[in-house]
Amino acid sequence: MTGLIASWVDGANDPACPFPLNNLPCGVFSLGGDDPRCGVAIGRSVLDVSGLEEAGLLVLEGGPLLDVPFWNDVMEAGPAVWSDLRARLAGLLAADSAEQSAVEPFLIPLADLVLHLPFLVSEYTDFYAGRHHAANVGTMFRGAENALPPNWLHIPIGYNGRASSVVVSGTDVRRPWGQVKGPDDAAPRFAPSARFDIELEMGAVVGQPSDGPVTVAEADAMIFGYVLLNDWSARDIQAWEYQPLGPFQAKATATTISPWIVMRAALEPFRVPTPPREVPLLPHLAEPGPMLYDIALEVALVPEGGRETVIARTNWREMYYSPAQQLAHHTTCGCPMNVGDLLGSGTISGPTRDSRGSLLELSWGGKEPFVISGGTRSFIQDNDTITLRGQALGDGYTVGFGDCRGKVIPALADPYKRT
Ligand code: MN
Repeated sequence: MTGLIASWVDGANDPACPFPLNNLPCGVFSLGGDDPRCGVAIGRSVLDVSGLEEAGLLVLEGGPLLDVPFWNDVMEAGPAVWSDLRARLAGLLAADSAEQSAVEPFLIPLADLVLHLPFLVSEYTDFYAGRHHAANVGTMFRGAENALPPNWLHIPIGYNGRASSVVVSGTDVRRPWGQVKGPDDAAPRFAPSARFDIELEMGAVVGQPSDGPVTVAEADAMIFGYVLLNDWSARDIQAWEYQPLGPFQAKATATTISPWIVMRAALEPFRVPTPPREVPLLPHLAEPGPMLYDIALEVALVPEGGRETVIARTNWREMYYSPAQQLAHHTTCGCPMNVGDLLGSGTISGPTRDSRGSLLELSWGGKEPFVISGGTRSFIQDNDTITLRGQALGDGYTVGFGDCRGKVIPALADPYKRT
């Protein structure tokens, strides 16, 4: 495993810094009220790569590619440009760079910036690919005997979500209203969700298009990078609506992603295989090499005015299917994939109680409230802030994603009242 790549930028060589030269994640920022621009995080700063390109210090084939406030043009330009970009930035930012004085004016302290969605989300699909999560939820909803649907060990189960619902970290999420089942045989009613929840996930950002089925190896090469993803879920709405076509309004309120796309290249040293198969996969879904990643993940909850409690710790390597397998499966019937498609991994839960990636599992359907600083929780209460964090630990360095954070604000008193 390669060690830290040293940089002249302040803070970048700290072993705990999430943004060393090894990382170079892609984001979109604005300063004051200025127009958003593309930037790359390094140390405690953002490098204004739109500015670098404008100044002629960063020349990309087919450019300009960074004169827009999203990374889709870079993604579309293809893997050779992705590599060139990283190589050029590594040269400019390396400890022995001869270009330090030319680049310094393009560094802006992270603390001064507003971060925006890093790419235009073309379409959004969410999977259900964590073995422990599927077993836990299946046991609660259908009993231990029928926990895993018969197809689960053969294909990554997914549903088509809404790109329009994807928001960047820091965006408030309003508790939704929806139709929920009444107790016993009572008629359904329309009410604010009382079982609003999170799902700890990773999101794969598709950087190349496809037309027709692709192999798992081809799918892996199409992925530009990864984000943290919180699939906000209204469990009471979900329980009433999910059969027979899967979740719909329960997942339509918001999906929060972290502000930085960590490029696949930055995660190469952290590749791990998926866990052993319980039944063999058909050949078109078999993994030709390690395609999951060793990323330590945690979920933190802060009540209004209260202290933070880390409510779950797990790792992406717990997943049964890799993002490449999910993307390959997505194309099997000919579905064209687009630059900017976002694929949610599915909830990442580990085998132990404190490694469950949703409150539904942590509180076992609300039957076993868990302890947080200053109280207990079964589901999210108004003004709770949830933060997802992820990091890969290298030899003397850390690759981080930036926080994926959202505060749940109270439901409207009347969602149909027009002001
Ligand atoms: Mn989900």
